[in-house]
Amino acid sequence: MAIIEVTNLKKSFGDTEVLKNVSLSVEQSEVVAVIGPSGSGKSTMLRSLAYLEEANGGSIQIGEEYLVKDGKYPSSAKIKQITSRMGMVFQHFNLFPHLNVRDNLELAPKLLKQFSSAEIRSKSSDLLNKVGLLDKADAYPSNLSGGQKQRVAIARALMMSPEILLFDEPTSALDPELTGEVLQVMRQLAEEQMTMVVVTHEMGFAKEVADRVMFMADGEFIESGSPEQMFGNPRHERTKAFLNRVL
Ligand code: ADP
Ligand code: MG
Repeated sequence: MAIIEVTNLKKSFGDTEVLKNVSLSVEQSEVVAVIGPSGSGKSTMLRSLAYLEEANGGSIQIGEEYLVKDGKYPSSAKIKQITSRMGMVFQHFNLFPHLNVRDNLELAPKLLKQFSSAEIRSKSSDLLNKVGLLDKADAYPSNLSGGQKQRVAIARALMMSPEILLFDEPTSALDPELTGEVLQVMRQLAEEQMTMVVVTHEMGFAKEVADRVMFMADGEFIESGSPEQMFGNPRHERTKAFLNRVL
């Protein structure tokens, strides 16, 4: 069963049509890599899934629930409930600079008051351990490397036990020698059956970890297929031209 079903999604900024007609179906535990040229709408697509942008038309279904149906959004309480099922990791980490690592993880769950402080503390310890940063719990983001910051951001996104993780070019702000540690955490999440949509320029990661690769250009998905098919035998000229440039 699809856990994400996007149908004919549209988004404009003023007169600029950024998402023309985006449809996407992601199965439970599937890892989908989204590739495509800069400016093609990849971030806008991901941000619309997380309700960081409001779409102008089309539908987004998360499991049985509609985040937006034919361009119409439900109540803000309903939107919050649906978006809480997703975590997002950004290119520039977006950590809170004035909070230490542990407080970055614990802020949102504490505000939500669903769990006791002890439960939240135990979870943040588990997740920092999982990303190999328990010894950095008291450090501030400014004292971490880019790779460490991104691993904190992933741990933070996991604090609310999301069913889906959305990644927007999680390694593109990193020095090349620091991408491996972040990709390793993502690989582990994929092995643990996390559903992930990963906008990435890491073709190696897409090849190795993604179940499916989707190519976006000019606000539409042009082509999708298995990594073998997309990298080995792309059908569309635009996909070929793009892959020739980046591979
Ligand atoms: P990508 O992530 O594929 O590089 P984006 O989704 O960031 O593409 O952007 C697609 C297009 O939408 C670009 O032309 C960009 O300038 C425009 N865009 C994105 N966000 C905004 C915004 N908040 N206001 C106006 N234009 C935007
Ligand atoms: Mg982008």
